[in-house]
Amino acid sequence: MKNKIFKYDFLVVGGGLIGALTALSLHKKKLKVLVIDDKLKIPLDQRTLAVNANSKSFLEKLGIWNLIKTEPQLIKKIIIKDYINSTPLIFSDQKEAMGSVIYNSELLKIVRQILKNLKILKTNININLNNLIPNKPVIIDKEKYFFKKVIISVGKKIISDETQKGIVIKGGDLSYVGFFNHKKDHNNIAYEIFNKEGPLAILPSPSSNNKRSTFIYSSKEKITYKKIKSLIKDSFSHSHGKIVFYKDIQKFPITPHLTKYNKNYIYVGDSLKSIHPVAGQGWNLGVKDIQTLNYLIEQYSIESKIFNPIYYSKRLIESTIYFGFTSFINSLYENNNTLNHKVIKIGYLGLQNFNLFRSLFIKQAMGRLNLFD
Ligand SMILES: Cc1cc2nc3c(=O)[nH]c(=O)nc-3n(C[C@H](O)[C@H](O)[C@H](O)COP(=O)(O)OP(=O)(O)OC[C@H]3O[C@@H](n4cnc5c(N)ncnc54)[C@H](O)[C@@H]3O)c2cc1C
Repeated sequence: MKNKIFKYDFLVVGGGLIGALTALSLHKKKLKVLVIDDKLKIPLDQRTLAVNANSKSFLEKLGIWNLIKTEPQLIKKIIIKDYINSTPLIFSDQKEAMGSVIYNSELLKIVRQILKNLKILKTNININLNNLIPNKPVIIDKEKYFFKKVIISVGKKIISDETQKGIVIKGGDLSYVGFFNHKKDHNNIAYEIFNKEGPLAILPSPSSNNKRSTFIYSSKEKITYKKIKSLIKDSFSHSHGKIVFYKDIQKFPITPHLTKYNKNYIYVGDSLKSIHPVAGQGWNLGVKDIQTLNYLIEQYSIESKIFNPIYYSKRLIESTIYFGFTSFINSLYENNNTLNHKVIKIGYLGLQNFNLFRSLFIKQAMGRLNLFD
């Protein structure tokens, strides 16, 4: 091993959707950053991502949005229905689309390629995260490095130490994700249907003819693929016409969590918090983590002692609200009793009849409300 020490501002551990974008945005701020990922290649992920208006602006500013080759599918309207209320909730915005649907893997490939070209990404690197301390030398790929700050972006599965997870909900929920073609145009409408067994989201999927959609069905009940398909056909044949499913259905375990503060690390994306996919906001919240980080870099020296606690406290409020809200909504629908029905009805009435409440809800979903920053 040579004696040379490579000095960097940031190490980003984890080159997934959020870690890779964090690194690119720091690099654009002229900071010296290295990203490491423990896998050699990008794992196969057929999922789509509902990118809200704020995240789209973020990707545009980074110069990424125009590089997405598969035409993003706009979400112009969101319709929410459930088994308790007779009329649906309908949300849209006068000024801009509520979001756009893109492929996870396409976005990740683009960002990773840029990082590779910049020579700031190292893959297939396994280091013990418990020994990783900022401002202390660390060996990566047989070379000695020194980082002022360490950002953890390893997703929700493994945080450096399991005890870092402050709150975890282990309800045994699974999300099933698949695609279908349909005869009628989806009209750029996204749906969320709250069934007794769990929520079913249908999103317009990127396609040239507006006749391809994706579903995300989540439940703690064991369910067959046949049952999921018949649920979708029953609810959507009328609006979407004849439905033909793609063969593959992917399964994802859902274990929402919030991570405790650790003075050594800045947690971003699913490493900071993971939420139930019912709101389609997990990645969008990760983008807000990056935006907060960028904002703080403009306000404080990265070597300041208050940098990490300020970042954590700024992101804790919104993370906790989403974590609490998505978990609460799910438990209200899963526990089918009179009190829960009353609470749901009050929420519905509020969103239907109070314009202020409604427009705050829409702006929040679009990432355009910064109440918690
Ligand atoms: C079914 C489903 C649908 C969803 N739909 C949406 C949606 O429509 N909109 C939305 O905003 N969000 C959505 N989400 C949430 C979104 O997918 C996640 O929030 C987002 O992908 C998290 O990205 P991440 O980079 O934090 O984590 P990950 O994508 O998990 O990346 C973690 C990276 O860290 C690497 N890694 C792991 N351990 C180590 C280690 N020890 N050392 C080095 N590297 C390591 C991994 O290889 C990986 O590359 C959905 C989630 C699910 C489950």
